[in-house]
Amino acid sequence: MRQLFVAGNWKMHGDKASIKTLVTGLNAKADSVGDVLVAVCPPAVYLDYTKNCLMVDNIALGGQNMAVEPMQGAYTGETSAAMLKDVGCQYVILGHSERRAIYGETDQEIAAKVKTALTSGLTPILCVGETLEERESGQLESVISQQLDAAVAEVGIDQFSNVVIAYEPVWAIGTGKTASAQQAQDVHAFIRGQLAKLNPSVAEKVIIQYGGSVKPNNASELFSQPDIDGGLIGGASLNADDFIAICQAA
Ligand code: 13P
Repeated sequence: MRQLFVAGNWKMHGDKASIKTLVTGLNAKADSVGDVLVAVCPPAVYLDYTKNCLMVDNIALGGQNMAVEPMQGAYTGETSAAMLKDVGCQYVILGHSERRAIYGETDQEIAAKVKTALTSGLTPILCVGETLEERESGQLESVISQQLDAAVAEVGIDQFSNVVIAYEPVWAIGTGKTASAQQAQDVHAFIRGQLAKLNPSVAEKVIIQYGGSVKPNNASELFSQPDIDGGLIGGASLNADDFIAICQAA
């Protein structure tokens, strides 16, 4: 049985005061989430601060991105896997559609980062997802396969039991339009099926989160689908009550 995993992607939101309020709210209710895995992914500059505010041991920390170079060096503006580890991260989100669309990250660059994360002892949360145009022109499966295949080719299928995949349809991110539970389940089953062709036991183990306008009122239907193993939450993760409610739905 796969464990359910809910992670909050705070994106470029928050300041010390709002993070203090948010994490205080999470601390107060953390024991109500049961055995669901939970993580929060603050902006890099607030990782250490967030870690210090967290008073519970069942909410883990993750980065939102990292450099492909694992250690340190002359890479102005970058954050390494070693640095994420040093401040207490267990996870790192990689290949979010905003990184792909706004910062031009390619499948190959993201795959290389997945490798760096794994060799550095971080669990990558690899985001995949199609735009509305791609879905409507019948390219859904080829786009998802391409995103997935690049990472599989880089790290090998056996390593994928240590990778979390987040299916985030681009058209559902921050738009209030959620994929229906059935639409999401179909893509999750497709992803698992692709991995199963290479290694069925790895495919069975891989946690596949859904992301895109997950809210307290739609989380339980999404998370009850057989191949949806939790969520990657944007907007609703900035409110402690909403985020905890979503974790409770898992
Ligand atoms: P929203 O939940 O705000 O739609 O964002 C989803 C997301 O991009 C999480 O990574």
